[in-house]
Amino acid sequence: MMEQPILQVEHLTKYFSVGPKAEVHAVDDVSFTLRRGRTFGLVGESGCGKSSCARTIIRIYEPSEGKIILDGQDIAHMKQRQLQPIRRKMQMIFQDPYASLNARMTVHDIIAEPLKAHHVCQSRKDMDDKIFAMLERVGLTAEHAGRYAHEFSGGQRQRVGIARALVLNPELVICDEPISALDVSIQAQVVNLLRDYQQAEGTSYLFIAHDLSMVRYVSDDVGVMYLGQLVETCEAEEIYDHPLHPYTKGLLSCIPIADPKLARAQDNPGIEGDLPSPVNPKPGCRFCTRCPYAKPICHEQNPALKEAAPGHFVACHLYE
Ligand code: SF4
Repeated sequence: MMEQPILQVEHLTKYFSVGPKAEVHAVDDVSFTLRRGRTFGLVGESGCGKSSCARTIIRIYEPSEGKIILDGQDIAHMKQRQLQPIRRKMQMIFQDPYASLNARMTVHDIIAEPLKAHHVCQSRKDMDDKIFAMLERVGLTAEHAGRYAHEFSGGQRQRVGIARALVLNPELVICDEPISALDVSIQAQVVNLLRDYQQAEGTSYLFIAHDLSMVRYVSDDVGVMYLGQLVETCEAEEIYDHPLHPYTKGLLSCIPIADPKLARAQDNPGIEGDLPSPVNPKPGCRFCTRCPYAKPICHEQNPALKEAAPGHFVACHLYE
């Protein structure tokens, strides 16, 4: 029997009202599955809805519609009181290690917060032991526990953020662009830290990023989002070897290639123009204002996500 996935997102929708008859379609009918112990990379430009999707899944935002099935249980419309024990199973690592840590709290107190909220320690000593062990696991030491966030570098602050997220040993961690605010030299260290932890503990990650190069080395499966919708999803290698959606091809063409001959040889068209407004989007394919292959039907009908090859789903009229 196949193991049950840790997370199934089904037709998830999140609209924000921004005035009379005006709604931002931040997340629009998004469905995907995160396999247990694996990483699903959710990719798209800034403003495409990936962070809203993550925050809706973890119930920072209330979903408008759809299901969020965590470990077999639909948590999409649970009340906050019902969610309390479930929150221990899912934690979040935030993008900005400068803004996400309370400047008035010591590192010890920051990491102690989730332990206290979920009453998981038998004694003060038990709590200290857990905090010091977690600091060691993320590459810090017990000596760092008494310091404040401003005393650390960006990479060290993100390690504190990771320690706070992992100290409860959650089954699902939502990593919301956890390395994009860090120096390039530090990014690989943080990615390796997350991978090592996953291999040791079997944790599942939903890894949010704005470019495909970043998720290549961490993801087992990838989903590409555009203007609130998932436009392509499949296994990670497949999306790099056989991208189908014009937007995915454009994103891939934005990845710098070191070899100039290879760079010249690639025939991907790139992406021109800006992301359109997500307020009351027009009918038709959301990408049609920027797509070099747009045809008349693209301006009238929004293509559904369909299986174009085994396990490879794409929303584009070119594949119907
Ligand atoms: Fe381009 Fe049409 Fe496909 Fe949209 S549906 S990506 S406009 S070809």
